[in-house]
Amino acid sequence: MDEITRRLIEFWRGTQGAEGPVPLHAPVFEGREWDYVKDCLDTGWVSSVGAYVDRFEAMLAEITGVRHAVAVVNGTAALEICLHLAGVKPGDQVVMPSLTFIATANAASHLGATCRFVDIEERTLGLDPARLDEHLIAAKGQPIAAVVAMHTFGHPVDLDGVAAVCARHGVPLIEDAAESLGSSYHGQHTGHHGRLAALSFNGNKIVTTGGGGAILTNDAELAKRAKHLTTTAKVPHPYRFDHDEVGWNYRLPNLNAALGCAQLEVLDEYVARKRRLGDHYARVFADLPGVRLMLENPGTTVNYWLHALLLDQPDPARVERVIQEAGAAGIQCRPVWTPMHQLPMYGDCPRGPLPVTQSIAARLINIPSSPVAS
Ligand SMILES: *Cc1c(COP(=O)(O)O)cnc(C)c1O
Repeated sequence: MDEITRRLIEFWRGTQGAEGPVPLHAPVFEGREWDYVKDCLDTGWVSSVGAYVDRFEAMLAEITGVRHAVAVVNGTAALEICLHLAGVKPGDQVVMPSLTFIATANAASHLGATCRFVDIEERTLGLDPARLDEHLIAAKGQPIAAVVAMHTFGHPVDLDGVAAVCARHGVPLIEDAAESLGSSYHGQHTGHHGRLAALSFNGNKIVTTGGGGAILTNDAELAKRAKHLTTTAKVPHPYRFDHDEVGWNYRLPNLNAALGCAQLEVLDEYVARKRRLGDHYARVFADLPGVRLMLENPGTTVNYWLHALLLDQPDPARVERVIQEAGAAGIQCRPVWTPMHQLPMYGDCPRGPLPVTQSIAARLINIPSSPVAS
């Protein structure tokens, strides 16, 4: 058995005393979820309007410090609207990392845009500002309408660096902050550097609404547009159904927002638990040569949405072996996503050299990260 697997089993079965399966990430409901959801059922406010949506948005603004939050059905929808509001239209191109969850690329595609992939930094697992700059210089004259930076597993990208490159090239920056609720960069929550940012509340994220997302922006006008477009572009009126453009029905149901309000109340505790779990993992793997735990960079505070082990050398067979061995012992591990440029739909997209992306994809193992007490 691989020494990584042996230590994972010893930690979860021994130290933690876990008896059942240990999932990669499972939601935890220990707050007021039942009360708030029951309240929706008792009052009949389960659907497209209701007080929990407003409250959820206000809580998000409060937590992130970003002035406006607009709740939507999922993170992919949030990204699509962010890109649309940044001006992305059919025939445009959107620059993003290849190492991301498929939603980042799909959101651009659904708007009729083409993806362009740029390499990441090993330090942050996010867009490399130097590679981004080179790419934008080489692509001069192409219709590049936006850059999306994604905060992998909650680790903030070099936001100052990426934002400076975007500003220099006059391209709007969008933050895919789906994984980084609770993570900050130089003391400021992620989501402030982009013109707009997207959050996700899918069932496997740090807190969940069942399914859900949100658009963040400091720009009042963009926030108003986001709300209007995601609620069918209906002109407010007591009984008339007038719509002034082609909108989307992307609003988050009140039922989901109710769950979200209860979850946001415990976000700080969940971040603390994940950080504590990280301290345990750091000890478990401290003296094991050839592997290291992904730790937060100076100037950042990480929510540790998913903990990650990195092998020193690319070794896809070992990654596979650990995942299978651990899985057989009921401990769920996972490789990182297949990079976008290796998927059939995105294989022909323009891209820069991707050596770090390729290397990380053959070295990374996500290990159990649920927000449980440890
Ligand atoms: C989860 C996630 C999203 C959004 O996913 P949804 O399932 O649509 O909420 C977007 N980008 C990244 C990087 C994600 O991890």
